[in-house]
Amino acid sequence: MGNVCTSADKNYSAAAANPKIEKKVKQKEAELKTLKGFAKVNNRSMEPRGVAESMVHFFEIVSQEHCDRRNVVRAGCLLRWMDICACLSAEKHGQLSSVTLSMDDLSFDIPAVLGDVLEISGRVNNAFNTSMEVGVQVLSTSQSGPRIHCRAYFTFVSLDHHGIKCKVPKVIPETEAERDNFILAKERRQLRFKKKEQLETMLSQIAEKGGDDSSIRGRALTENPEGGEGISSQMSVKPKVWTGNRKRLSIMLRENLNLGAVLPPAEESIVTRSMGESSLQMTKVVLPSDANHMGNTFGGNIMSWMDDAATVVATKHIRHPSMQPETHVATIAVDSMAFIGPSHTGDRLNFYAQINRAFGTTIEVGIRVEAQAIGGHVRHINSGYLTLMAVDMSGRPTSVPKIMPETDKQKEQFMKAVGRRQLRMERKKMTGENKNTNGLSWNWSEDMSSEISVANIYGLLKVANAWDLNWVKQDLPPEIASNNRFEIKMQVTKDTWGLGLATIRFSGIVSCKMSDMFKKIMDCDARGEWDVAVKDCKVWNKVDEHNDIIWMAYPPFGTEGKGKPKDFSLLRTWRLDEERYIVASRSVIHPALPVNEDHQRGEVFPSGFILTPWVMDDGMGDLRDNEYQEQTSFDYVVQLDKTGQEMAGFGNPNSPYIKVMAGSLQKLCVILSST
Ligand code: GDP
Repeated sequence: MGNVCTSADKNYSAAAANPKIEKKVKQKEAELKTLKGFAKVNNRSMEPRGVAESMVHFFEIVSQEHCDRRNVVRAGCLLRWMDICACLSAEKHGQLSSVTLSMDDLSFDIPAVLGDVLEISGRVNNAFNTSMEVGVQVLSTSQSGPRIHCRAYFTFVSLDHHGIKCKVPKVIPETEAERDNFILAKERRQLRFKKKEQLETMLSQIAEKGGDDSSIRGRALTENPEGGEGISSQMSVKPKVWTGNRKRLSIMLRENLNLGAVLPPAEESIVTRSMGESSLQMTKVVLPSDANHMGNTFGGNIMSWMDDAATVVATKHIRHPSMQPETHVATIAVDSMAFIGPSHTGDRLNFYAQINRAFGTTIEVGIRVEAQAIGGHVRHINSGYLTLMAVDMSGRPTSVPKIMPETDKQKEQFMKAVGRRQLRMERKKMTGENKNTNGLSWNWSEDMSSEISVANIYGLLKVANAWDLNWVKQDLPPEIASNNRFEIKMQVTKDTWGLGLATIRFSGIVSCKMSDMFKKIMDCDARGEWDVAVKDCKVWNKVDEHNDIIWMAYPPFGTEGKGKPKDFSLLRTWRLDEERYIVASRSVIHPALPVNEDHQRGEVFPSGFILTPWVMDDGMGDLRDNEYQEQTSFDYVVQLDKTGQEMAGFGNPNSPYIKVMAGSLQKLCVILSST
């Protein structure tokens, strides 16, 4: 017990004599600071900051050194640029040095090529306790307008000069788009926490089938017979004609490289290689230029080296007599990555990479990264999984040799690759950018409930706040449009984003509390009080505190009362914060609500209400304090496909469907404003 001291002074004197003790004292101090509620750093304002204050832009002119043989920018370069951009943005917000904690799933859908001028921009979407989400996008401008090459979401933490995590200022979103991202950042955070659990569930399901992926193949590969990664239509009611990423990449490569028509898909490979053959170990030394001013290695550099290792492994795999000599590989996706521990200048980083599985024309490479200071312990700092596609010089995806696991460990990795692939595809489908294209109804799945819920909110916000769409004002009959306690306006936009969707939007103001309006909308038993058409409305299944499954029935529309009544099986998702209440509903296929003989099943894309407290500036102060005059501004948005549009008379305010909708809203406003 000779080394144990009771006072700080003693600690310091002992520390001065012994570097080992000094280290321990520092550790103890750090722990204490953390316990006291995180390190406080002098001269740093913790005042909430606007999103615009964290904005960072920089430009890269793509030159030969950034490109592969086809003159397409390597994924590793993009990862490095995006990480630096995210880091600068996080540091601007937190006003402290920041390090990468994680990066979400990322896919490189539109390749950037030689000569492109890339604009890389980042901003902090939301800040939590010590971490913040930074959104980064890479775009270039071509003759046909701006093209977004990829978007990524990073999580960063701020560190003080001892390397201890610090609290970061809150974010104040100002514009509609910032508010949407602020909300979605919270949602994505929950998805991050859930991923490990979801993967384990999927793996145990696969293990129950003895590691056989035929069921997954049945859903994903058969629908996408080219074997490429993409959005499986597993969740959609009607099987769609799916062209797959492989073809898309091929088309885009050819467009970018001006190579003419797309060639037919390649044949399935019959060659098999052992997993051990693909194995690689690569070492890098972290130089000062690879780290920030505090000596912490840039996460983007580590990811870029991981991409190098993956490219080497995959290239070795396709260098086989059965393959065309000019075939090469391109990284098309990176699974979310979490940095488990830090690495510093001087560390030796060992990258252990191998092919875990080949799927037609794509390959999953797994990479384990370990760091070691000279004479120090080996530390596991990261593991990542990259998907690469084999293409020939004309951009045509090419089948790759299959992979055969030999040891028990390899068999496990071989099997896990299938689970990851399934999760990747399902997550992409639901949290990707163009969710509206993926079919009206999604299969309800407990495992993917968070993703479906986020997609529901996102789908509504995306269209409700899309002011760049061509909204056309429609005049409602005066008796519906207003009285002295409310006002309703209607707008329509045809063919939203060229997807064949039309959106009807009612906006208005009503004299009532936001919470009262929310309660009324949510109350299924009271739906009939204001929805002039509804025949039945029931909560079928309470999922959690933010989601339920509801069933609604309506008489037949547009057929003069003939035909079957319509019913809907909807996932209803709601989010409440001080500034805004959101209630989004979209069609889902729920096992407890099968299509029944008596009804014709209707389907809707994310639709619903967005409520905000309305403040009238009449020089008399904030009317929200005055209960009598409290007002709520609302948007009610309905997204309709072609059939729905016909039924709605294409948004004509005199069509029976629109009259019913507007009439229902009017009734809701009358009830709310007179209570
Ligand atoms: P795992 O995927 O569950 O095995 O997680 P790990 O973090 O252990 O490894 C991540 C990935 O790195 C694995 O999927 C493998 O592809 C690769 N890997 C792991 N260990 C080794 C190794 O010893 N040698 C090589 N070449 N690759 C490895």
